[in-house]
Amino acid sequence: MRTCRTCGCTEDRPCPTGCVWLEADLCSSCVDWSAALGRELPPRELLEARVSIELSLLDLLVLHGHLCLSLRHPQVTGASRGLAEVLRDYFGETLVETAVLTPEQLAEANALEVKEQPRVVLARG
Ligand SMILES: [Zn+2]
Ligand SMILES: [Zn+2]
Repeated sequence: MRTCRTCGCTEDRPCPTGCVWLEADLCSSCVDWSAALGRELPPRELLEARVSIELSLLDLLVLHGHLCLSLRHPQVTGASRGLAEVLRDYFGETLVETAVLTPEQLAEANALEVKEQPRVVLARG
């Protein structure tokens, strides 16, 4: 079973605060975010405090689009890529559940991520 190499949490028994997989065997609770983000962060207790935000479905649609776009960038890698993918999937599922997007439209939006070359359109005078 998939197990975190640091804390030993598993797919069935996640960390008490909740966690997601950011590497094959590393959960989000155990990532050194200061190192991953390259700067000093506030204390862990503060970072682990739960917050909730209220968004309209339109906001969610826009955020999902931004995440799909950011994932097309080859330098979005490692832990931040993992988190962006988790959020993209979570937002995407919500948009399908609420019938804002069809499953086909979601698949299309997610597929933009894997296109190798961005399309460049030159303006003509
Ligand atoms: Zn862990
Ligand atoms: Zn965990």
